[in-house]
Amino acid sequence: MGGSFRLTRLFGIDVEINISWLLVFALFSFTLAREYFPAIITGFTAATYWSMGIITTILIFVSVLLHELAHSLMAIREGIPIKKITLFIFGGVAQMEKEPHLPAVEFKIALVGPATSLVLALLFFLLFRLFPPGLAISQVIFFLARLNLIMGLINLIPAFPLDGGRVLRAGLWHYFKSMLRATRIAVRIGSIFAFLIIGLGFLYLFQVSLIWGLWYIFLGWLLYQSGQASYAQLVFHQTFKGIAVRQIMSGNVQSVPPHLTLDQLVEYFYRYKYGAFPVADNHRLLGMITFNQLRDVETGRWPHTTAEEIMTGKAELVIVSPDREAVEIMMRMAAGNIGRVLVVENERLVGILSRTDIMKLISMHMLLGTEK
Ligand SMILES: [Zn+2]
Repeated sequence: MGGSFRLTRLFGIDVEINISWLLVFALFSFTLAREYFPAIITGFTAATYWSMGIITTILIFVSVLLHELAHSLMAIREGIPIKKITLFIFGGVAQMEKEPHLPAVEFKIALVGPATSLVLALLFFLLFRLFPPGLAISQVIFFLARLNLIMGLINLIPAFPLDGGRVLRAGLWHYFKSMLRATRIAVRIGSIFAFLIIGLGFLYLFQVSLIWGLWYIFLGWLLYQSGQASYAQLVFHQTFKGIAVRQIMSGNVQSVPPHLTLDQLVEYFYRYKYGAFPVADNHRLLGMITFNQLRDVETGRWPHTTAEEIMTGKAELVIVSPDREAVEIMMRMAAGNIGRVLVVENERLVGILSRTDIMKLISMHMLLGTEK
């Protein structure tokens, strides 16, 4: 996710905060200090209410972090590396390097998060009982007990991709022996919950409060969208699983020799109408030259400038082996907004994989049907 910065490193996992969280921090502190706490307990100074608001917000953050950390540590224990944890507007995401390969593994990883929140709720409740209720700190603790309880319960809603939905999918997966089928059912059940939340939002909109109504509608819609997106991503993975780059790349690449002058090079652009050409010396890849690089050189200098002089060197290009999984490369291209990768085998340029190749492949699969 864009716009994140690294906060710390715990158990070998980078903890990042999305900038959206800073806005949430300000909004939560403000709402708690000015609206929530003054409404439930009176007689404190503004400074005390602000301290309560800020401390509570920090501890909300710690609660979310502990929930994600529980998922991450369980994943690591099950042999799934965790790249990083990103905390953003509605909680956090622990980025797993790969999906769990067994239903039992997914079950454990999904369940440990809400379980942690529920244990935290219990601990805060017990702590609350130790303090007299009239203290500012007691109200902070009580709020956190409730928050962790709600966080644990919401995450247990069986709506994929929420934790509860993952627990449900693990069960269905174990039963049907098909991850795709289990996901499809879990996403459908999740959509029902999403629509129920949206319906509740509309009810709130007219009956209770406008703001809460809009929040519910927004959260329901977000839940629906993320369910659909995770299913689409899974279908995409399953469809193209096992396909190597070699099978979908364009072979017979038209390359240009390094000593070609730019006035000769422009002929290639006219003739082939490609946006870029690899520069190769007898099939040995040296770099890549784009139309924009050619255009940036004054036409008067074209006869005295060679392709080699203005090309992007090999070191800066994305180069892959033809035996790599295509879907992996496709994901990397999409994430990094990379237009084309060069396929090289034993130092020789053997192909090029462009966005156009991928789009063709996807539309072919869509015409033939992807349902397995
Ligand atoms: Zn979770």
